[in-house]
Amino acid sequence: MLLLDRRAFGLGSAALVSGCATVGGRPRTFASCTPLAPVNVDASRVIRTVAGLRPYRRSGFVVRQEQLAEKRLVHNYGHGGGGITLSWGSSKLATELGLQGHSGPVAVLGSGVMGLSTARLVQEAGFAVIIYTAALPPDTTSNIAGGQFHPFGVFHDGEVTAEFKTQFARALDYSWRRFQIMVGDDYGIRWLPTYVQSDSPEAQVIANFPPINRVLRAAEHPFPVDSIRRYDTMYVETGRYLRQMVRDVQVAGGRIEVRRFATPTEIAALPEALVFNCTGLGSRDLFNDQELHPVRGQLVILEPQPEVRYAYLGDGYMFPRADGILLGGTYEVDQWDATPQPADIERLLSVHKRFFDGFRCTA
Ligand SMILES: Cc1cc2nc3c(=O)[nH]c(=O)nc-3n(C[C@H](O)[C@H](O)[C@H](O)COP(=O)(O)OP(=O)(O)OC[C@H]3O[C@@H](n4cnc5c(N)ncnc54)[C@H](O)[C@@H]3O)c2cc1C
Repeated sequence: MLLLDRRAFGLGSAALVSGCATVGGRPRTFASCTPLAPVNVDASRVIRTVAGLRPYRRSGFVVRQEQLAEKRLVHNYGHGGGGITLSWGSSKLATELGLQGHSGPVAVLGSGVMGLSTARLVQEAGFAVIIYTAALPPDTTSNIAGGQFHPFGVFHDGEVTAEFKTQFARALDYSWRRFQIMVGDDYGIRWLPTYVQSDSPEAQVIANFPPINRVLRAAEHPFPVDSIRRYDTMYVETGRYLRQMVRDVQVAGGRIEVRRFATPTEIAALPEALVFNCTGLGSRDLFNDQELHPVRGQLVILEPQPEVRYAYLGDGYMFPRADGILLGGTYEVDQWDATPQPADIERLLSVHKRFFDGFRCTA
């Protein structure tokens, strides 16, 4: 089933695309419309479809340590739809916790975005690292992510503690600053203006995020809907980014061993005295965390259109990347089947086609 994606810190939902240029029978004038290039949505332009499972916990991600036999085990998992965004910051919190008073090599479980960021922070702190992982990029959930810097769908408001909110804000703040110094082609990160169907500015959790952040008048934008908010944020081309992160870990002397763990006992037998658990949704079985649920997201990827240099979120979303135009917008709780569903893919295409065909002025 296709559900609307929501793009505002887990609050509020995107409204349906209206596709019409009249409000309450009043015709509008669009003389001041700033033209943008529409996406050319057509089934013939589809280059691939993908589906992935967001590792979601209603009470938020887990960063905490425990004793596992002789070892210190630090968890860092459960970031829902915001794992790319929070990767550096959450891993910073985890390493601050785990590395205190430690000496000797360090093990990291998992090589998605969380495992790789944790491994890099461990190396930057001067420790040798080995990553044990069932799968490597490109075969991780992190590779499927759209890559918008925005902490979407990370927790359910009302089910988080004040302590978690402080952790969340600290993680977001560190990530926000860390990604900024990585912008460029090496890591596939760029800034884009982002338009959201909404009549209010973005809620601010930390200072300076997101910049610009204002509501546009209907006459100012080309979209076939009334209320639009604009803010600026960064977008990560996840395939390129994760490839580069793997290289960074290896260049700094890190080793990677392909291995799947079935029980904590197997982890307790590792030679390293400190272990970071970054196994994402894998933590549900491995550590019996029944609060962790999959939230499936499906994406249609169209042939790249370099002239499209903005992102859009409304009924679904569009992120333009060098490796293709991403159309997404499904949020399916407890769906374990990570394969694209033809009916949903068709709906993503038709919703976006109607929207982009309705532009009122074009570049
Ligand atoms: C469609 C979609 C769109 C998304 N868009 C965005 C976005 O725009 N912005 C954003 O910030 N986030 C987004 N996300 C969310 C993001 O992808 C996740 O939060 C993030 O990838 C989680 O990273 P991770 O490293 O914890 O998990 P993963 O990437 O799943 O990595 C887990 C690693 O652990 C390994 N592992 C698992 N179990 C075991 C085991 N038992 N033994 C050994 N190794 C194990 C796996 O092989 C893998 O290497 C999106 C997700 C989806 C599905």
